[in-house]
Amino acid sequence: MEHITETSTLKAPAERFTGDVYLNPIEAPSAPACLASGLVRFTPGARTNWHSHAKGQVLYVTDGIGLVGTRDGEVARITAGDIVKCPAGEEHWHGGTDTTLMAHIAIVVGDESGDGTTWLEPVTDEQYKTALAAVSR
Ligand code: MN
Repeated sequence: MEHITETSTLKAPAERFTGDVYLNPIEAPSAPACLASGLVRFTPGARTNWHSHAKGQVLYVTDGIGLVGTRDGEVARITAGDIVKCPAGEEHWHGGTDTTLMAHIAIVVGDESGDGTTWLEPVTDEQYKTALAAVSR
């Protein structure tokens, strides 16, 4: 077995995320399994850019309250313990709410060339506000 301890937390790149997002990589794609996984922590207001995953993605929410949105305007409010399955190729984003952190473990299947994620443009403040309003209670 391989036991990795005291792993580093990385700042997620500004060209793919809005706001402060922190990443702890768990696994990078490597044949034959090609699993890619990481713990992603979003501070309030932070979110991914729009993106899609070639083979889909599973998110397991570990902490806080956040949002997942898709191009058709569907928005889900997600909390610790929730599981979100994003189908292959579906453009979406995920992040915290404007007032809460959200952390999830992201799980995707990649290949020898990477994790299969196609990164797109940022979620605008207007799109983000619309999403927040859609799940406000
Ligand atoms: Mn995703």
